[in-house]
Amino acid sequence: MAGILTYALHYEGAFNKNSLGAVSEGAKLAKELGAESHAVVVGGDDLTDDLCKTLGKYGATKVFRVKGEEGLAQPVVDAMAKVIEENGQSYALFGGGLLGFEIGAGLTARLNAGVTMEVTAVKVQDGKLVAERPILQDSAIVDVDYVGEPGIIIGRLNAFEIAEGGDGDAEVVDVEVSFSEFSNKCKMVQRGEQRGADVNIEDADILVAGGRGLGKAEGFQLCEDLAESLGGAVAATRAVVDAGWYSYSAQIGQTGKTVAPKLYLAAGISGAIQHKVGMQASENIVAINKDQNAPIFEFSDLGIVGDLNKILPKLTEAIKAKKGG
Ligand SMILES: Cc1cc2nc3c(=O)[nH]c(=O)nc-3n(C[C@H](O)[C@H](O)[C@H](O)COP(=O)(O)OP(=O)(O)OC[C@H]3O[C@@H](n4cnc5c(N)ncnc54)[C@H](O)[C@@H]3O)c2cc1C
Repeated sequence: MAGILTYALHYEGAFNKNSLGAVSEGAKLAKELGAESHAVVVGGDDLTDDLCKTLGKYGATKVFRVKGEEGLAQPVVDAMAKVIEENGQSYALFGGGLLGFEIGAGLTARLNAGVTMEVTAVKVQDGKLVAERPILQDSAIVDVDYVGEPGIIIGRLNAFEIAEGGDGDAEVVDVEVSFSEFSNKCKMVQRGEQRGADVNIEDADILVAGGRGLGKAEGFQLCEDLAESLGGAVAATRAVVDAGWYSYSAQIGQTGKTVAPKLYLAAGISGAIQHKVGMQASENIVAINKDQNAPIFEFSDLGIVGDLNKILPKLTEAIKAKKGG
């Protein structure tokens, strides 16, 4: 058993929360297997020794650092394939998200490996990893284990919790990778800056989520005002992002992001199962809906039956007054 290799994505000098969750999970599992926990990072000069070493805090013992373009899948596939071929890690682990899915799929094809996506938990059984994957719209869970090595495990976004269980700094190992010709055929031109896309909703403690009940795109102003007064961020349902009312990056649910903030305030959201699976782990769920039979009330801690056009501005006003007072 030669260890677990986890991909850690960084941006502007910090590793993202989802990646730190995956590194922590990789370390926990490696410990149970009696194996090593490694991480791979790809990027430029911002990947300093000091930054890479911090992954030790989350349990990585070794960090393989590769110079290349961050944020694109193909260079990372090349990097991870080389690290695995040279070091023989038995598993590659990803925190999920679109980039994780893309890299994981590419690595699977490159290494002729087995892959499981949308994994919500991983356990050790008979000295091997077994991935738990929800199926049939999350109504059942299947166990998946791997025949041969490496096994590729791609988590659902934010499925793995961050844990600072490491013993100290990670060892940083530079790896030279000659990228495939096709890997350099994509360039990052610009990171998207859609409305609402500048806030990382997975990291927010408070989310004010809006649905079709907002009536129109401009209705999101009510959510933005409330989120601002609370120091939170804005999230959305698929119905409204499909309608072009808000950014796709804010979509919560089965085909969007999975979040678990301290407070999830849902305004004008019916609570469809596909939305629920992305936010049900929130610590406190507050729902505002004018229909007292809306399914969202079945899994809310506090339900308010009423018109969001009246309630949201009043709430924002009250919070501002309290903060100002
Ligand atoms: C394969 C698949 C994947 C999907 N993935 C996702 C996903 O990832 N995320 C997601 O969100 N959905 C997803 N969906 C869509 C999902 O099934 C629902 O259609 C969607 O979540 C509904 O969005 P909504 O709650 O905004 O709209 P609606 O269901 O139309 O609900 C609007 C609610 O607003 C209330 N309302 C209206 N006016 C007011 C008012 N003035 N004040 C207060 N309340 C009001 C209504 O009573 C209603 O309950 C998916 C569907 C499929 C088939």
